[in-house]
Amino acid sequence: MERLDKILANTGRWSRKEAAELIRTGRVTVDGAASLRREEKFSEGARFQVDGEELSGEKRVYLMLHKPAGLVSATDDPRQPTVLSLLPEHLRRVGLFPAGRLDKDTVGLLLLTNDGALAHGLLSPRRHVEKTYLVRVDGALDEGDERAFREGMTLQSGLRCLPAGLERLGPGEALVTLWEGKYHQIKRMMAARGKPVVYLKRLTFGPLVLDEALAPGRWRELTRAELEALR
Ligand code: URA
Repeated sequence: MERLDKILANTGRWSRKEAAELIRTGRVTVDGAASLRREEKFSEGARFQVDGEELSGEKRVYLMLHKPAGLVSATDDPRQPTVLSLLPEHLRRVGLFPAGRLDKDTVGLLLLTNDGALAHGLLSPRRHVEKTYLVRVDGALDEGDERAFREGMTLQSGLRCLPAGLERLGPGEALVTLWEGKYHQIKRMMAARGKPVVYLKRLTFGPLVLDEALAPGRWRELTRAELEALR
């Protein structure tokens, strides 16, 4: 037996506070009965509905992964191992997929979830979710590179990139901030400046910050605060 607000929050779709509000405003029924209190206890086998819609039995899962080099950001691939190969068997069966892509040789923060609506919102080009990367290049970065990034570059292919941030940390090292996610974007921008990328690590994705306690290849569930910040 579990409290009703907890049962709703366990789905990952609402915080305890949001669940309480849904219950208080009469939007939740259990086995058809309304007028419920948040602290009432029910067994998981009962039939829960929110706004008349059945609570799906599948739990929403949100994982922060420190992607290592050598794996592709896909759910399956006929030839190469994917990031899902890092997960235990039971988590490979809940429909997780990477929210966005990192190149095979890029390391760092990757969000894995089975919440399609959340991922879709985060990846929408209209949302301009901010991402930052630690970048090392072959060559010395200069003010001209900073300016080119700031002004927004047009690549040889004609592809127009939005203004981006480039903060130099050392001669061949910088923090790059993007508000879009085009294919191989940083590599192509740096190549256009004649300074090929030799190392790329994503540090942040929207409000999420890579947990440095996670070694490459390791993952953990998002905290409640991280999940709420994403929504
Ligand atoms: N830009 C790239 O070039 N590659 C990535 O993986 C991410 C951003």
